[in-house]
This record gives sequence, structure tokens and C-alpha cells, in this order.
Amino acid sequence: MTNGGAALLEFRDVWVEYGDKVVLERVNLAIEAGEFVSVVGPSGAGKSTFLRLILGQEGPSRGQVLLDDTPLRPECSPDRGVVFQRYSVFPHLTALGNVLFGLECAQAPLAARLFGGARRKARNEAAAMLEAVGLGHSLDVYPAQMSGGMQQRLAVAQALVKHPRVLLLDEPFGALDPGIRLDMHELVGRLWQEHRLTVVMVTHDITEAFKLGTRVLAFDKRRHDPHAPNRYGATATYDVKLDRKAKAAGPPPELMRSEPAPVL
Ligand code: ADP
Repeated sequence: MTNGGAALLEFRDVWVEYGDKVVLERVNLAIEAGEFVSVVGPSGAGKSTFLRLILGQEGPSRGQVLLDDTPLRPECSPDRGVVFQRYSVFPHLTALGNVLFGLECAQAPLAARLFGGARRKARNEAAAMLEAVGLGHSLDVYPAQMSGGMQQRLAVAQALVKHPRVLLLDEPFGALDPGIRLDMHELVGRLWQEHRLTVVMVTHDITEAFKLGTRVLAFDKRRHDPHAPNRYGATATYDVKLDRKAKAAGPPPELMRSEPAPVL
């Protein structure tokens, strides 16, 4: 449950280490319900690791990640939906089958199948979700028969049908042609508003980050030891909440460079 203005998702001094390699350090963040958080940063800065922490695919080495003030257990759960750049959907299931599967996983975590009225209700819900993402005429189509854009629409429907508290997007439009990417921006922006979603999206595209986000986080290393590159991890070095005016103005020039930030 949301708790009167408190953060939906909170990172408290979170570190992620693999052996002697520090990937993330001292991450302190609070994300409120309804935010659309874009995450940018150079390759290897721990953006996907950050998403995996929220998804529950892994736990922090130190610190805490809290959802509604409760520490997240390192396991996937229907309160978090995710769309990856590719391969989010099952090739052997139709569009409807894919979305129904998402729903069954959420409603019947022990993999029990739905029957009778519950099954019909689930089917209607899945079909409505497919309609909402523009696939209302493709219920019986398999992913292999779909374009990349359609597959991503399907992946969004599969993630959203569970009504997740947080929708995670990991470079969801990175493999799409520019025109299709714009269509997807429109779709995700609309779904975010209509479903009052909380979104955390990793992207390499800084313009996309500022166009869709209400907040932009940049991950990078604040400190660097040239003799021991694994010694320090990245953290959120830049955290800006955008208002409409700032969004219209686009990204600030210091974030438009393609090189990593100078090491402090
Ligand atoms: P980004 O998404 O910003 O490109 P990642 O989160 O994928 O960065 O990776 C951050 C760093 O963590 C990389 O250097 C990567 O090699 C390392 N890393 C990620 N997962 C593991 C793992 N399971 N074991 C060791 N190193 C890992």
C-alpha cells in the first residue's frame, strides 16, 4: 500500500559487489508513486544491475531496497513488471497466450491453471490489454509473425496486465526503427498517464530519457583508482526532477556528451 507521500521504492545505502569488484556504491534514492524515472549512464555503470535489484533478480551486497517500506526479497513478483529490449515474450504462445500467461503467473503463483469463469474473465482482461497496446486485431498471432514494434507492444501488455506497482523498462525501444520508436514513446507515455504507472526505464538515448521521464538519473563513478578499476562503483551522480518547462527545454548540455563524466 502507498503510505501518505512516503516513497514507493527506496534505496538505502545500497552497494552491489561481485567478489572484489564494486559495481554500485552508496546508492540512496527515493522514488515516489507516479514518477517516470529515466536511467542513463555509460556502459558498465550498473544501470541493468540497478533494474535487477528492483526486479528482485538479485539482492544488494549491503544496504536495503524497500518497496512500501518493506525490504524487497530477492525474488521476482507480480508487483514488478519488466520489458527487455528483446526476447521478453514466449515464441510458442500467441499474443493472447502470452498476456494470459502473464496474468496467470500473477494470479496463480503456484502455476495453477485458471478454469471456467475465472478463465473467461482473464481472457477478457488479456484481450482488453492487447487492445490498449494496439494489438486488438492480433490476438491469435505468434511473435514470429510480428514486427519488432508489435513484439514490444506485446511485451508491454504482458508486463502491464499484472498491474505491477513498478514497471521496469530495460532499453525497451533500443532495437526499433526510429519511426516505430516514436510510436512506442506515444504508447508508453499514454499508458503511464492512463494507468498512473510508476516507471523506471534504462535507456542509452538521452533525448528519450528527457522526453518520457519526469526524472532523470545518471549513473557513473564518482571516484576512480587507475590502478584498481574495480575498486569503486557507480552511483547516481545526477538526479534531476523535471517540470514541464524543463522537459520542453530538453537535456542540459553536460548530459549530451557521449563520453563518461570526468573522474573526480
Ligand atoms: P550497464 O547496464 O550500465 O551497462 P551492468 O549493470 O550491466 O551495467 O553491469 C555493471 C558492471 O557489473 C559491469 O562491469 C559488469 O561486467 C558487472 N557485472 C554485472 N553482473 C555481474 C556478475 N554477475 N558478475 C560479475 N560482474 C558482473
